[in-house]
Amino acid sequence: RAPSPFSGAADTDYAEEEARKKSQQAFQNVRQQFGKTYLPLIHGEYVQTQEIIDSLNPSNFSEVIGKVGLISVEQAQQAMQAAKAAFPSWRKTPVTQRAGILRKAANLMEQRRAELSAWIVLEVGKPVREADAEVSEAIDFCRYYAEEMERLDKGYNYDVSGETNRYIYQPRGIAVVISPWNFPLAIATGMTVAALVAGNCTLLKPAETSSVIAAKLTEILVEAGIPKGVFQYVPGKGSQVGAYLVSHPDTHMIVFTGSQEVGCKIYAEAATLKPLQRHMKRVIAEMGGKNTIIVDESADLDQAVVGVVQSAFGYSGQKCSACSRVVVVEPIYDTFVQRFVEATKSLNIGAAELPSTTVGPVIDANARDRIREYIEKGKAEAKVALELPAPDNGYFIGPVIFKDVSPNAIIAQQEIFGPVVAVIKAKNFQQALSIANDTNYALTGGLYSRTPSHIQKAQEEFEVGNLYINRTITGAIVARQPFGGFKLSGVGSKAGGPDYLLQFLEPRTVTENI
Ligand code: GLU
Repeated sequence: RAPSPFSGAADTDYAEEEARKKSQQAFQNVRQQFGKTYLPLIHGEYVQTQEIIDSLNPSNFSEVIGKVGLISVEQAQQAMQAAKAAFPSWRKTPVTQRAGILRKAANLMEQRRAELSAWIVLEVGKPVREADAEVSEAIDFCRYYAEEMERLDKGYNYDVSGETNRYIYQPRGIAVVISPWNFPLAIATGMTVAALVAGNCTLLKPAETSSVIAAKLTEILVEAGIPKGVFQYVPGKGSQVGAYLVSHPDTHMIVFTGSQEVGCKIYAEAATLKPLQRHMKRVIAEMGGKNTIIVDESADLDQAVVGVVQSAFGYSGQKCSACSRVVVVEPIYDTFVQRFVEATKSLNIGAAELPSTTVGPVIDANARDRIREYIEKGKAEAKVALELPAPDNGYFIGPVIFKDVSPNAIIAQQEIFGPVVAVIKAKNFQQALSIANDTNYALTGGLYSRTPSHIQKAQEEFEVGNLYINRTITGAIVARQPFGGFKLSGVGSKAGGPDYLLQFLEPRTVTENI
């Protein structure tokens, strides 16, 4: 099998003093820009808005990172008109040129890597190394989708004598991208540039809590040469502007990553034909997970404990891919729980900016309160094995481990999106696998085992989009672990994989009798 020829951007090596200095300098520069106002980009212009919100530092909510102008429904309408007007010429722009803009954007991100990481750390509370890896992912999305579109642009030839048959791809039209706060740069970039390089005019509505980073992405795309109207940055209220754009008859596709609740609403709304609408909308929705790691009796426990800690508590569990259930077979259950608890105690909870921090805050007050409610529910249905204290000047939640959790308990079934893990006991591997599969979701899953028959069975029967064997279950890399799930984890094909761009295109067959 040929290895993937795509090679991704390298993360920063913070062991090097130079890199650490650069990072410190970037934090200082970013802090000096705190409080600036970021405005929406409509038809190539930054426009004033009636409503302006503060974006806060989750590690210290007395700090205002920036102010963000939210568009009105009327402005959303203007943005839609501008996108429509820009489409005829964008769809005709050669793919090499569109891909060139993505590559330029990637280079700009590479140049601004330390600064972009600092913005991520400060706006969404992600620890520095993880923020840096996120910048790499954003760069990779740009370069990979540029390459992918050049591949697809060649189309296919099915000529026979007397007849040419061309199979070609054309853009769909207008794409509305609704991006999440948890990968505020990488996912916003990936969804946006995929839509753009395929020739669609694109409106980006970021999650409110990560609108400043989306504004940075906007600066980069503008500098990279995106024509006016082709890309527009439209921060706004999801329930208002988001809903308006989703239901608009001129929207051809909605590209969403976020909660299952919102994803299902979008799917339903998109299916309703509006007056004057002459197409059905395509929805790509990535909607979450309740991801399990199975640990069997043959597992290397040193490896399993570290892997579970990282998968569960990295970015405070705020990843769709995060581990929130660990199913452990009986013979090693007590040992595993004890070692998992000990390892978790060594995590450092604090401001995301500090190099020593391993667990930062959660995104905002709503998230903190929701997670706390789940912890209370957990206390009513299972035993607390560990609950770590946390500071209260930011939205911190100390990691919580529940043990002896019933597979059907609320905390074993609902996505919590926080640093809370349910450990479940299984009689044997077969039962562990059934417990793992018994959720609404199918996003990521993991197995720690040195038993070939178990590994084989997991490959065949573990119902997840991304299965990881003897490693962490987060941190998928573009063109190496194409990422995405099925069941109620979402619809659409994997980000960073060979089928992703097809969703943004309309294939056509042209036959000529010669
Ligand atoms: N792609 C990320 C990972 O593999 C998760 C993305 C998400 O949380 O939506 O960890």
